[in-house]
Amino acid sequence: MQRKDFIKLAAFVPLSVFAKKIAKHYVLVQTANVDYYKKGEAQYDELRQGFNKRIERYPQVIALCKNTAGVAEAVQYAKQNKLPIAIKSGGHCMEGFSVNDNGMVINLSMLNTITWADKETITVEPGCKLFQLYDELLPKGRVLPGGSCATVGIGGLVLGGGYGLLARKFGLTCDSLLELTMVDGNGNIINTKNDPELLWACKGGGNGNFGIITELKFKTHKAPKTMHSYRFKTYKTDAVKAQAILKSWFEAAALLPPSCFSAYVLNGKTAYILLTNIEKNTPDVEKAIKMLSSVSAKATQTAAKPLATALKVFYGRKEPLYFKNASAGLYKSFTEIESFIDKVIATVVTTPGMIYQVNTLGGNIINAQKEMEAAFPHRAFPFFSELQTYWEVPAQSKRLLEKFAAVQNIFTTNGIAAQYRNYPDVNFTNWQTAYYGNSYQRLQQVKKKYDPYNSINHLQSIQLP
Ligand SMILES: Cc1cc2nc3c(=O)[nH]c(=O)nc-3n(C[C@H](O)[C@H](O)[C@H](O)COP(=O)(O)OP(=O)(O)OC[C@H]3O[C@@H](n4cnc5c(N)ncnc54)[C@H](O)[C@@H]3O)c2cc1C
Repeated sequence: MQRKDFIKLAAFVPLSVFAKKIAKHYVLVQTANVDYYKKGEAQYDELRQGFNKRIERYPQVIALCKNTAGVAEAVQYAKQNKLPIAIKSGGHCMEGFSVNDNGMVINLSMLNTITWADKETITVEPGCKLFQLYDELLPKGRVLPGGSCATVGIGGLVLGGGYGLLARKFGLTCDSLLELTMVDGNGNIINTKNDPELLWACKGGGNGNFGIITELKFKTHKAPKTMHSYRFKTYKTDAVKAQAILKSWFEAAALLPPSCFSAYVLNGKTAYILLTNIEKNTPDVEKAIKMLSSVSAKATQTAAKPLATALKVFYGRKEPLYFKNASAGLYKSFTEIESFIDKVIATVVTTPGMIYQVNTLGGNIINAQKEMEAAFPHRAFPFFSELQTYWEVPAQSKRLLEKFAAVQNIFTTNGIAAQYRNYPDVNFTNWQTAYYGNSYQRLQQVKKKYDPYNSINHLQSIQLP
């Protein structure tokens, strides 16, 4: 039987009956609101594959939904067939939590529109990629503080918090979230206008836990006109020098106003520092630049560019890669890592392909009101670090993953406990408190309310109380 025959048949047969009838066949069914795919069909692999090629999981069914009603339909289908549900918006989860084995993946790539509610407010569907948002907003002089990688989905980004070059100025992505629509684990359509607790939970704790978010309403911000940047590079550095640069970076970063973002990136033997600014340099910024110039071999400045052009420099690669990238802790200052960071750096400088990066948070992310309104628990930490490693062919993965785990172990055994949910690591044993701090038990109550049978789950999803 060909796909078009299934489609014709589908119009006359109730979904549950039809699904049972065709369960043994290759292709499932197309309804007005959902296309279902099974293994073997052309689009199955394309819809399954995420950004991380390391992750290979094979769901029984992929439900490519066209609207919120389609998502509700797909949840009913999963319930009838006892399939656990994973949710995929942009597919950039670093541990592949948006795809499962033998369950259903609800693929939201067709839910990708942006609608203006008024001149400052937008409604966005979760499959919308960040570049689409910037392309829509910036020509209108507005912006949403998102991440830097162009192909990350707004769905996964905002539900875990969301930080980027503009977060110190405008807050986390979730701080601009006003309202959302969700299909819960029972297939009911919920709006947070009727439940502020759900809105709180989804600002940092909403990734694949309570339901499938299908619409997100955001306030936008007046976009800065330009961004200028500085790069400080030291090639062929040894561990001692790399650590000295890191220490100076922490001191310089602490001086920066909210208009600036900065990152220290140790990529093998190259120590690289980025500093961006969307406003004129203050004396403190100039002081930071001097400090960083004095410890680096080479300093370059990029003149102010229109914001849309400046952001594109950081868009990154579009095509899937083999990699492991995970949170390596949030810190308050260099003193928290000073006693052991030499061991981390010694591994990184001798491991080509391994990167240790520390990014600035802080600025206007630190805000008592926002803290109350969001489950994101890490505002007290002005620094967020990540460990990354990349490879070309699967044969290289084992050795690099072992080194990766060994470095992560250095952090955890030295008391680094807070981790960013959007950079998960399946090896975190205490992930509940690492990602959610004191919010975890409150989040479990939201889970119980909206997904009492734990239909929506992944390796580190919030558990029922
Ligand atoms: C190259 C790269 C660059 C990145 N840069 C940044 C950055 O600058 N700043 C930053 O904060 N993060 C960044 N991240 C991390 C990113 O925010 C997370 O990976 C995010 O979860 C990806 O969202 P997604 O929709 O693309 O991914 P998906 O894989 O589709 O989903 C990620 C998670 O969110 C859940 N989820 C997705 N959609 C929904 C939904 N509609 N309803 C409920 N749950 C849902 C999934 O279950 C999964 O657990 C980056 C990641 C990569 C790979």
